[in-house]
Amino acid sequence: MAAEFIEVVFNLPLKSCFSYRLPEGEERKAADLIGCRVSAPFGRRNLNGWVISASDSLPEAVQEAKAVLRILDTQPLFGQDLLDLAGWISEFYLCSLGEALSVMLPGGKKEKNLPPLGLSPEDELHKRVVLSSEQEDALRQITQSSESYHYLYGITGSGKTEVFLRVAEEVLAQGKTVLFLVPEISLTHQMVDDLTGRFDKKPAVLHSHLTPSQKLTEWRRIQSGDATIVLGARSAVFAPLKNLGLIILDEEHETSYKSGSTPRYHGRQVAMKRCKMSGAKLLMGSATPSVESWAMMEQGVFQKRLLKERPAGGALPDIKILDLKKSKSLLSQELIRAMDRVLKEGKQVILFLNRRGHSYYFHCRSCGFEMKCRQCSIPLTYHKHRNRMICHYCGYQVKPLTLCPDCGSMDVGYAGFGTEQVEEQVAAIFPDSTLARLDTDSARKKGVLQETITQFRDGHIDILLGTQMVAKGLNFPGVKLVGIVLADTGLSLPDFRAAERSFSLIVQVAGRAGRYRNDGEVLVQTMRPDNPAIVYGCQGNIEAFYKFELNQRKEMGFPPFSRLIRIVYRGKDGRKVLEALEELTQLFRQAGLPDVMGPAECPLGVISGNHRYHTLIRSEDDFSGIHRITASLLSHSDVPRGIYREIDIDPVQLL
Ligand code: ADP
Ligand code: ZN
Ligand code: ZN
Repeated sequence: MAAEFIEVVFNLPLKSCFSYRLPEGEERKAADLIGCRVSAPFGRRNLNGWVISASDSLPEAVQEAKAVLRILDTQPLFGQDLLDLAGWISEFYLCSLGEALSVMLPGGKKEKNLPPLGLSPEDELHKRVVLSSEQEDALRQITQSSESYHYLYGITGSGKTEVFLRVAEEVLAQGKTVLFLVPEISLTHQMVDDLTGRFDKKPAVLHSHLTPSQKLTEWRRIQSGDATIVLGARSAVFAPLKNLGLIILDEEHETSYKSGSTPRYHGRQVAMKRCKMSGAKLLMGSATPSVESWAMMEQGVFQKRLLKERPAGGALPDIKILDLKKSKSLLSQELIRAMDRVLKEGKQVILFLNRRGHSYYFHCRSCGFEMKCRQCSIPLTYHKHRNRMICHYCGYQVKPLTLCPDCGSMDVGYAGFGTEQVEEQVAAIFPDSTLARLDTDSARKKGVLQETITQFRDGHIDILLGTQMVAKGLNFPGVKLVGIVLADTGLSLPDFRAAERSFSLIVQVAGRAGRYRNDGEVLVQTMRPDNPAIVYGCQGNIEAFYKFELNQRKEMGFPPFSRLIRIVYRGKDGRKVLEALEELTQLFRQAGLPDVMGPAECPLGVISGNHRYHTLIRSEDDFSGIHRITASLLSHSDVPRGIYREIDIDPVQLL
């Protein structure tokens, strides 16, 4: 029988669903409606929403219903499995069902297009290698095990990808489907090359740079069974694969698996849930597992599969720490000498600087005044070629100052480390070498990223300087020296995961250097040569780092020894924001939640003129009980006008 009435949820923070009538003549079977989008009148607007149920009568409590304007899809976009997953997301991450469904298949947002990277050297494509005995063991253990969660913990270059692909082949051969997650889009392009030609069917690709219509096309290909392997970044974890047999989650430690907007889901956590619901296996991998995953391996929740050798050869490089406190310049004499030597040999250099935000800052040498953004509390960055101080959070710009606005002193200047500053110094010291810079500023122009990388690979560039962009996925035979210009930028962030991040950065960057040669060198400049994250990172002493870090976390009561729920309130009126959050926090305390911290100003206290405060709820045992109480308190408390609430379950950063 055809349904006449439907219930619809919207991408709004509203728990309830809304009843509508179908337009005359548009009645369909319920099964053909649930999971479709509709355009429906909502208040004074028309909104797109999701059909979550359909029937031939209205619910009892509802007297009458407006008609939807249109049914947007000819067949549902979600089956019951994904609707159930959305239900879990909304319960666990404390968002509405409409918000959960909208994050699974977002559309209508403005998309930007980045050029594909396509980095794989051609001779590497489609070559079928003989597995090493370690790889064989890992493959057998994973495919023959009845356990659900597996972790391939292997040093950089140990051939994890090959194991992933072999496990995928076996799963596909059983007639099941495979989901392959990578942390970022540039790696998707690289992996597409590896997958195409290796498997009969063209893999579907899902990531946030597709246009809505491209995304929908891929979605339908997956639903129809035309694609049996899906590759993508975080949100691809929701791909509508039927008969799912395996989820691969590469570079598990990457924080880009955690969503930065509502719902703030973690790709790994959703993958675990999806595997549990579907009976699929989860295979994660990294050379530097997240501290939580390390703990999960120790507890036996994740089955640890170890790769200790590099089957293609290439020794791990020598890593040397250079103490920058003693150096007057950004580039220490030792780094300069090493660069000189390598360049004279006709080899290439990569210089790595953590991020563009850590650049030139204005400061007063008399009183210490630091120029910060008026809207955000972070220091402004000096961009020399534009002669502007720019805020990297909101884009605010001002002309540089010549006087200290605080004390009037003229002894002002710029200090810090920026890609542009390093670029200038390098160009001055090595005028005969070709130098290219790659960061979000320089890669903004279409084609620059691809072109720079091609030129570097072909040897037309001697020194490549850049941010994250150069750190990941770049394996070039000509590179002999990797210099980390400043390893400890992340360490000054007020965040309990800062050490973990600095550590994994060093290990991952170092891993690129010795890919193709036995004489690779890595030089790590730092202001904190004794910091354990730096020392263990440079020694490649992975086990020691986790032992140290787990001890720290235990002492501080931070994850994985506890779980956190973070509530952020933000708004233009700082006093009101704080008062509102104080009220909520009081409710938490009265309800008997054992460990409530806050409210406090967020480390990034103001962003784009919004004042930010947060409260943390910590749970050392009984997380589900604490989660339940928190959820109920939140759903019964109103957020005052002009204030926006962010809920973060298991936050990965507290900035
Ligand atoms: P990881 O992802 O663990 O850092 P990769 O998967 O990138 O390492 O592998 C490193 C290199 O080793 C690649 O060039 C890959 O083609 C090669 N490789 C992998 N397995 C083998 C093998 N069994 N024999 C020879 N080379 C291999
Ligand atoms: Zn001053
Ligand atoms: Zn700003």
